[in-house]
Amino acid sequence: LFITLEGGDGSGKTTQAELLGEWLAGQGRTVVRTREPGGTEVGVEVREIVLHHRGDIAPRAEALLYAADRAHHVATVVRPALERGDVVLQDRYIDSSVAYQGAGRVLDPEAVRGLSEWATEGLVPDLTVLLDLDAAAARGRLDEARTRFDRLEAEASDFHDRVRTAYLGLAEAEPGRFLVVDAAQPVETIALAIRERVGALLGD
Ligand code: C5P
Ligand code: MG
Repeated sequence: LFITLEGGDGSGKTTQAELLGEWLAGQGRTVVRTREPGGTEVGVEVREIVLHHRGDIAPRAEALLYAADRAHHVATVVRPALERGDVVLQDRYIDSSVAYQGAGRVLDPEAVRGLSEWATEGLVPDLTVLLDLDAAAARGRLDEARTRFDRLEAEASDFHDRVRTAYLGLAEAEPGRFLVVDAAQPVETIALAIRERVGALLGD
C-alpha cells in the first residue's frame, strides 16, 4: 500500500504521517515512512540544492532535480518496500511537482507530470491525502521562513493560491485516489478521517 501526503508547508503532513504510522503499526503493519525531496542519500544532496542553493535555479532545471530525486527514491526505497508488502507513508510525491513546479513555477503541469511518470516508471499512490490549508493561513507560516523557497514564496504573494488551486484541481480530477481534509481542523479529527479511509483500503 502506497500512501502519499500532500499540502502546503505547515499543513501538518509530518504530524499526520506520524499518527497514521503509529496506528498502522498497531494494526500489525510494517510501515516505511519517507519523504521527498531527501528520502535517500542522493536525495539529501538534491534537497540541499533545491532548498538552499544561494542563487536562482531555472524552473526546468529545478523540475529535473526533483524528478531525479524521485527516480532514485522510488527505485531504491519505495518499490523495494512495496514489493516486501510494507506500507509506504510518504511526505510529498508527484502531485507536489505538478503543484509547485507546474502551477507554482509556471511550467506546463502535464509536462511536469510526464517527467515524473518517466522517472518513477508510472508508480501511482493507492491513496493521496491532501491537507488543504487556505492561503491566508499558509502565508502566516512564512513568518518562520527557513528555505530559499519560503523566501521566494513570500515574494510571490499569489504563489500559495496557485499551488493550492492546483492541488484542489488534482484532487477533483482523481476523487478515487484523493482524500481532501481541511487542515485547519484539530489534529485528532484529521487523523480519524485519514484512518477511516485507510482502514477501508486495508479491508479489501
Ligand atoms: O515539505 P518540505 O519541507 O519537504 O518542503 C519544503 C519546501 O520545498 C516546500 O514548502 C516547497 O516550497 C518546496 N517544494 C517544491 N516542490 C516540490 C517539493 C517541495 O517547491 N516538489
Ligand atoms: Mg513538513
